Amino acid sequence: MSEPDLFESENSVLAHAKAVFCDVDAGEESYRHTLGQLISYYERLMRETRRLIRRSDREELEMNRLNHRLQELAQELEYRATHDTLTGALNRGAVIDRATAALARGSLSMIVLDIDHFKRLNDAYGHPVGDAVICGVTACLKNTVDAEGAIGRVGGEEFTALLPGVPLEDALVLAEDMRHAIATHRFPSPVDCPVTASFGVSWSAQGRTFEHAYGRADEALYEAKRGGRNRVMQAATA
Ligand code: GH3
Ligand code: MG
Ligand code: MG
Repeated sequence: MSEPDLFESENSVLAHAKAVFCDVDAGEESYRHTLGQLISYYERLMRETRRLIRRSDREELEMNRLNHRLQELAQELEYRATHDTLTGALNRGAVIDRATAALARGSLSMIVLDIDHFKRLNDAYGHPVGDAVICGVTACLKNTVDAEGAIGRVGGEEFTALLPGVPLEDALVLAEDMRHAIATHRFPSPVDCPVTASFGVSWSAQGRTFEHAYGRADEALYEAKRGGRNRVMQAATA
């Protein structure tokens, strides 16, 4: 089936004008009538073209707006998939992904920490206050680590700091700064006692796994707990 001709009436006016143009005997009246028809069709085509251009401009704007919104939603989705909702720190999955990627590129220092006697805080003040303490601790950690490191919440009141390419000695200094920042932080009322945390720090060479880096830092953390808490312990070198 042939396509319908969108310009059927215009083509017929044009064919008529061509015939008049070729007809040497056509009179003045015929020329005037044909020219009038051409003018009116030409003006209508211009009006239609302007209308179509305006519509296409509006649709382009709307498409750009929708594209922009789509990008925003994709970013939001990516953020939600990789961040913890309470603290805004990286979630466990993102910590594993980032540590794995960092270990494929080079060495990685990892700090693992756990808030001391957190159950007592929850029991004394309730869960919402416990949540506020978790957020306060996250802020202390973020303030201590600059752009080269990333803070993650891997469990209820357990965090990691990933420090790609940072030597163990520097990671130990950073962990000590974090410990001090938390121990001296004034948490909002009703928390009226210092909050402390215990730390384990590991260094892993390029090619090691997340489990290797985390397992050793976690062992050091539990040594810190056994040693009396509120302290930093270094993992045995692998
Ligand atoms: P330790 O010094 O040995 O770490 O003692 P702890 O009391 O901190 O012991 P543990 O680390 O096992 O306790 C964790 C507690 O944290 C248990 C759980 O009820 C609480 N918790 C886990 N997730 C959350 C959370 O998202 N919000 C609050 N408020 N509490 C949580
Ligand atoms: Mg704890
Ligand atoms: Mg814990």
